[in-house]
Amino acid sequence: MKNSISKPLPLPSITLKDVGGLQDEMREEILQTLSILKDPDRSERMGIKPPKGILLYGPPGTGKTLLAQAIAHELNANFFSASGSAFNEMFIGVGASRVRSLFQNARKQGPAVIFIDEVDALAGKRKPNGGEEGEKTLTELLVQLDGGHSNDGILFIAATNRKDMLDDAFLRPGRIDFTFQVPLPDTKGRKEIIDINVKGKNLSEEVLASLDELAESTSGFSGAELASLFATASRLALRKGRDYLIKSDLDYALDRTILGSTTRALQDA
Ligand code: ATP
Repeated sequence: MKNSISKPLPLPSITLKDVGGLQDEMREEILQTLSILKDPDRSERMGIKPPKGILLYGPPGTGKTLLAQAIAHELNANFFSASGSAFNEMFIGVGASRVRSLFQNARKQGPAVIFIDEVDALAGKRKPNGGEEGEKTLTELLVQLDGGHSNDGILFIAATNRKDMLDDAFLRPGRIDFTFQVPLPDTKGRKEIIDINVKGKNLSEEVLASLDELAESTSGFSGAELASLFATASRLALRKGRDYLIKSDLDYALDRTILGSTTRALQDA
């Protein structure tokens, strides 16, 4: 476990073009942040401190991990990734020491992006009777975030579906400098994500002509659900011995996805 979170993953080949449905304003803010991070000395001369931490929040499957990978790619940075729950340990001090070694390794191999998914498991609000271990781990995270210089080549990116659960101390500027909401995509966003998913695929004329309608009829779908829709349709096409998608593949996949979401919603209720 220790090794897997303290080693960088191969540099993600994901770029910002692979992330669909970003609102123009958010894309602009991300580009601005990237230009500050790419040339921190110039920014500091202008009195702008490069951000140390970014929080991405929004429903599951909306592309938060994808966006973190794209940011690492744009910065040509090593990508260290872990889930917040990987730091939850029964034994006092183990979680804290994992946090410490993660940051130490990232500093040695900078420029680096440290991405923590489900950060609420690590930086949740402190409870009066909360466990000592969790408290120690969070304190270590705050120490590490405070300890780095803004231009030491480390960018911390955290993601959560539950921003309301996060400890206020963690969210303080200087630790988390930018907070971006990554919502479910609107129709235009869904079309962008559909276009990303069909790129390079063979499609029948009928499928090609139905993509706008598909974007309109998939309200409430996340990017992950749209990706899974095309994966299911492609698997069906392959099973049928075709290397191109026809409308009935997509209709079948759509039924399966809607059925899956309904079953999950009923299970959660
Ligand atoms: P979670 O909150 O569950 O960790 P997430 O927001 O991090 O989810 P991702 O893991 O980035 O979501 O998305 C899963 C997959 O869904 C991606 O690898 C991609 O195939 C697809 N996907 C999700 N959102 C987008 C998007 N905005 N643009 C393109 N593809 C997307």
